[in-house]
Amino acid sequence: MMENAFEPRTIVFASHNAHKVEEMRRICGPRFRLLSLADLGCTTDIPEDGDTLESNALAKARWVHGRYGVECFADDTGLEVDALNGRPGVHTARFAGPECDPVANVDLLLRLLDGRDDRTARFRTVVAHIAADGTERTFHGTCEGSIAPERCGAAGFGYDPVFIPEGRDGTFAQMEPEAKNAISHRGRATALLIDFLLSTL
Ligand code: IMP
Repeated sequence: MMENAFEPRTIVFASHNAHKVEEMRRICGPRFRLLSLADLGCTTDIPEDGDTLESNALAKARWVHGRYGVECFADDTGLEVDALNGRPGVHTARFAGPECDPVANVDLLLRLLDGRDDRTARFRTVVAHIAADGTERTFHGTCEGSIAPERCGAAGFGYDPVFIPEGRDGTFAQMEPEAKNAISHRGRATALLIDFLLSTL
């Protein structure tokens, strides 16, 4: 059998979040060689001040494409809590303040929902892809679920310890990475991106 029957396709994932990069590498698998912003030596904090997930994901991908001229993609995720009229939504990272502190974010969420029975919520992700020639595409993924009354589990990142995906007993933070990625907002949006990328090989 031939070794190296295929070369992985190199693509830049516009993120500084090491947890997300790791998760994205698992989702994309061995057919892709994902380079993070750290791999490019880029330390710039790319602004994410748009008013939609789509505009933020596109802004990050456009920034990388403009600076490096390479095929790249970026994602933006929001948590919509029904009892909070869809908040924090596009402000999910900065829910408890500009420091984007995940502990403070989850504390605030649990405080706002304290004593409430209506805890349904969903994660939404938009993945924005820009081909080397500048063609832009977006892919969307959603994961329905609910907010747990307290933190459970140690895996994952962000709001994982309090998000129970629909049909499961535990939180994302209690799941194996593969199990989370198979049903998560990011896993679903990225699966659509991968289908598209493989169709263009
Ligand atoms: P971003 O789109 O990666 O900037 O994420 C926005 C906010 O959502 C941040 O507070 C993240 O920690 C949180 N977040 C994004 N994806 C996930 C996830 O898969 N699980 C839990 N929290 C997430």
